Amino acid sequence: ITGHVGFSNIPNQVRRKSVKNGFQLTAMVVGESGLGKSTLINTLFNSTICVPRVPLHPAEERPTTVAIENIQADIEEKGIRLRLTVVDTPGFGDFVNNSASWDPILQTIEQRFEAYLAQEHSVRRSKIVDTRVHACIYFIQPTGHSLKQIDIEFMRRLHDKVNLIPVIAKADTMTEDEIADAKALITSDLAFHGIRIFQPPIYDDDDAESIAEAEALARAAPFAVVGAARAVRTPDGRAVRGRAYPWGVVEVDNPAHCDFGLLRAMLVRTHMEALRARTADVLYETWRTQRLLAMGV
Ligand code: GDP
Ligand code: MG
Repeated sequence: ITGHVGFSNIPNQVRRKSVKNGFQLTAMVVGESGLGKSTLINTLFNSTICVPRVPLHPAEERPTTVAIENIQADIEEKGIRLRLTVVDTPGFGDFVNNSASWDPILQTIEQRFEAYLAQEHSVRRSKIVDTRVHACIYFIQPTGHSLKQIDIEFMRRLHDKVNLIPVIAKADTMTEDEIADAKALITSDLAFHGIRIFQPPIYDDDDAESIAEAEALARAAPFAVVGAARAVRTPDGRAVRGRAYPWGVVEVDNPAHCDFGLLRAMLVRTHMEALRARTADVLYETWRTQRLLAMGV
């Protein structure tokens, strides 16, 4: 994936509008405790293309997440502003049949739909603030086994409410072959259970490059991610964000080492609009129709 598909290539009209209004994307991280959700958020905000406007906790010192919280920063690329909000959620424990673990997360997603609906029905529609969750990054344990029951239950409840992006957590703990096997296993598990993950759309008039990019992203799913907001030194002396092992360093930003770069690019550059569009036109619309029917409107 090369770096030149993104803000710079979007049509001028859209660009002008977004420069004025600012792009805005809200992502959410979900998954068991200790899989690196909070660390990945720091890694996202500390990326080289990002200019965080808010002070962030040092990655390794962040306390365990105990409540759902918003972390927000403006990032800028090629003169175009993007406000990125990530909703951090407390992890859940290793229990089955505990609806308490997904209730707060589903409630957060639906409350944000509800807030949007209320604004649509209000008089001052020009001032609508969109806090809907456009992407849900779901962390899967790097075990190399089939999906756990709780992951299946969770993702089943999420996939028609939010763009679901499953990731294999802490990919630095697996070998390249183990990652490839885990991806294949998880992909077939998801298909078996009828869980739909976000697929980069391909349109009839897409150019060859966009098609290749969408296909590369689809092939790489579920992304194997590594989080580390701190710099470490490689054996050949470079300072990189990564995790050091006796045998070497797993580099966060090296596409040969993990898919963090793919995930980041998809969220803030190549597929931000696609994530927003599917949220608005498909996921929210479906929810809204059901909601209005239930209200007898
Ligand atoms: P959360 O509970 O999902 O938010 O997880 P945290 O981000 O708090 O991380 C839990 C622990 O895992 C911390 O000690 C992190 O340093 C560590 N960690 C986070 N990301 C990674 C990763 O990609 N690889 C490895 N090996 N450890 C990680
Ligand atoms: Mg956390």
